[in-house]
Amino acid sequence: MRVGLARVSTTKRAQDISIEGQVRDLEAAGCDRVLAERASAYSGGKRPAWEELWSLVASGVVSEVVVIDQSRLSRSGDDMAFLAACAQQGVRVQALTGGQIEVESYSGFITAGVLSVMNQASSRLVGAKVRDGLARRRAAGYLGTGRLPFGYCSQDGRAAPDPTTWTQARERFDGLLAAGMNINQWIRDSGTDVSHTGVRRWLDHPMLRGFAHGQWGAVPALMTWQEWEQATRLRQSRASAIGRTAGRLRLFTGLVSCSECGRCCHRQMDGAVARLKCKSPSCTFYGRSIQEAVVRAQVLEALRTRAVELAELAGTVQHQEPPEAIELRAQLHQLEALERSGVAGLAPALADLRGRLGALQQVPSGPRYDGLADLFATPGTLELATDEELRAIVVEFVASVRFLGNPRRVEITLR
Ligand SMILES: [Zn+2]
Repeated sequence: MRVGLARVSTTKRAQDISIEGQVRDLEAAGCDRVLAERASAYSGGKRPAWEELWSLVASGVVSEVVVIDQSRLSRSGDDMAFLAACAQQGVRVQALTGGQIEVESYSGFITAGVLSVMNQASSRLVGAKVRDGLARRRAAGYLGTGRLPFGYCSQDGRAAPDPTTWTQARERFDGLLAAGMNINQWIRDSGTDVSHTGVRRWLDHPMLRGFAHGQWGAVPALMTWQEWEQATRLRQSRASAIGRTAGRLRLFTGLVSCSECGRCCHRQMDGAVARLKCKSPSCTFYGRSIQEAVVRAQVLEALRTRAVELAELAGTVQHQEPPEAIELRAQLHQLEALERSGVAGLAPALADLRGRLGALQQVPSGPRYDGLADLFATPGTLELATDEELRAIVVEFVASVRFLGNPRRVEITLR
């Protein structure tokens, strides 16, 4: 018989929801019986569930004890005695967030890798008990105190796309992308009454990528994983340029670094000619520069030379699995192999992994790369691109441009 123990350490009414969540999780983990109690280990109060667990273990009918984590066992110090008793009776003690708890040896099938998978997989339960309780509230349908991000609303206590703002939210994201993630510029251009911080917080809200109720894929995502990554890259490229430019972002602002000192090259006007220059006094390339036009021509050449390759990349990239998915799949195979070899209690971890994998694969595929293949293949298009369009392309496809102290050539690495 597998027995689960659910407990919270206070007797407050508010903790009922946490107990209910634990009971659900323990039942999902395949417990034949779940004992639950609300009691503080320090209060000296009666602890019927704990005592019943002891007597069940002593009577020999229990094969496995399952808890959410080791701290749920007991905090009065008698958990070590309990574990010793279990070891004597040949009873396994399993923690949903930490794997098997053993007193005599830590060898066994549960490797550090699997432990970490189980920890991740039960992310709703991981770590701090506060987060734990909050996650349970959300899982039970409570959305917590935070406001839902623009584009989402609450339906029967669950997050859902808001039919009245969904399209606007998507337009907001498209507009931001079109503005190269220049949030201030987008606010000005769109005339929207929302703060810079508000937009930033909105963009960072995981619900936009399908996260709700402690789970990925619990709500439709506003943006694809690729779009999120692209937006992040654009924002990072802007962030690295902040403070170095007074005016608007130029084509290569923050993108060309000195191969000697690693710092960004500054753009400086030399008469009518723009030059990119290393300006760190300690660098051996200090004062050396290259014409912006030369860098531009070379970047275009590199992009054109690999046009076919990029076109292929553009065509396939959105069908490629994101790295997280590849990693999750590897973990899933590992767990499935363990399950096949007879390890019990992995069902919740497996379900969680499958859910997260599904969420990653279900993100709608956008038309972001459509047409790019044509763009690269058509002669002259890149030359006619404005600095802003070109910057977006460079950020997306060029991993690095390094100034070698040479006025004629830079080193370009494509993604
Ligand atoms: Zn330098």
